[in-house]
Amino acid sequence: MAKLVFVAQSGELTHSDEVRSSNVRIAAAAQSFRFGDDNAVPFLCECADIDCQQFVPVAIGAYYALLDTREWLLAPGHMADTLEPPRAAHG
Ligand SMILES: [Zn+2]
Repeated sequence: MAKLVFVAQSGELTHSDEVRSSNVRIAAAAQSFRFGDDNAVPFLCECADIDCQQFVPVAIGAYYALLDTREWLLAPGHMADTLEPPRAAHG
């Protein structure tokens, strides 16, 4: 399984960073279950609220595009810890 390395901007990983790493695993798992790029997958909201358990259905292809643009996946009205997610390096 590919390891993902997150480079946090200010040392500590935020809650959003942790949810992001979970979502990346969800994306990888969904791909292994042969979800197509256009099938919606329930990703976790990447907001700053540690109690948030909202799912945001997004296609895998759209989620990977989001990783490339370095934006958070957020439920409507939810806010992330930081403006920009850390860079995720596939390795
Ligand atoms: Zn949220």
